Amino acid sequence: MLKQKSAIVTGSTSGIGLGIARGLAEQGADILLNGFGNADEIEFTRAELQRQYGVKVRYSGADMSRPDQIRAMAELARTEFGKVDIVVNNAGIQHVAPIEEFPEEKWNAIMAINLFAAFHLIKAVVPDMKARRFGRIINVASAHGLTASPFKAAYVSAKHGLIGLSKTVAVEVAEFGITCNTICPGYVKTPLVDKQIADQAKAHNISPADVVRDVMLVHQARKEFVKVEELAALAAFLASDAAASMTANAIPMDGGWTQH
Ligand code: NAD
Repeated sequence: MLKQKSAIVTGSTSGIGLGIARGLAEQGADILLNGFGNADEIEFTRAELQRQYGVKVRYSGADMSRPDQIRAMAELARTEFGKVDIVVNNAGIQHVAPIEEFPEEKWNAIMAINLFAAFHLIKAVVPDMKARRFGRIINVASAHGLTASPFKAAYVSAKHGLIGLSKTVAVEVAEFGITCNTICPGYVKTPLVDKQIADQAKAHNISPADVVRDVMLVHQARKEFVKVEELAALAAFLASDAAASMTANAIPMDGGWTQH
């Protein structure tokens, strides 16, 4: 489905990003992985994806809080693959704290990585996409791009902003064969959420098991975490030719949370 296509997936050394990278590679796309982590483990993942799916897989350690590194990453993908057809803005961090205690450096980091990075990467790839009259931009926001929860001022603000950016880009580039959509996952059991379980337990003063049942899955009508593979399948569809008319959408995959 995605043969001859190439993709940058930010924050793809772990969790949802790695699942999406795997899903796109499975469909035949060349992949530029990005994110932090242990160098040996990242190389193992890169080589494994490349061998398993018979596609080119490269890696950039660009820091998504650094616009210069984001631009260099886009350039690396162009050099390695000749073009960039698909961009998945997925890298994200979280911090949970009451608004009056919310550390300014955490606010700034969440804005930079969860929102501003998408602006810088989209800006870097759109000129070529316009020239080739094809592009798929997929932004990973959250159910928290559509609704709020306490103690997440920066995250909820950044994710709402990401949906706004996505819609704006979508209507701006629609006539050039480029689509731009946002995926809004409910809770997915990844390292980011594992860390949050502990932080939320502290913020709410309840046990980790109670956080899962009474905070995370309370509005998720299905009462199960969303699976990385389900999000990967949605991203692969959005990247395909079949999704040419789907643009400017914020698509929840949240077990019913935002409609509950
Ligand atoms: P994760 O912690 O497993 O993965 C985050 C990825 O981002 C990692 O690869 C990490 O190295 C990378 N990253 C972090 N800071 C970076 C930086 N400065 N530069 C480059 N890479 C950086 O998290 P996840 O749960 O897979 O989350 C992925 C995305 O999905 C995030 O945007 C998150 O907000 C969103 N999301 C997650 C959930 C969930 O329940 N897990 C729900 C909704 C939305």
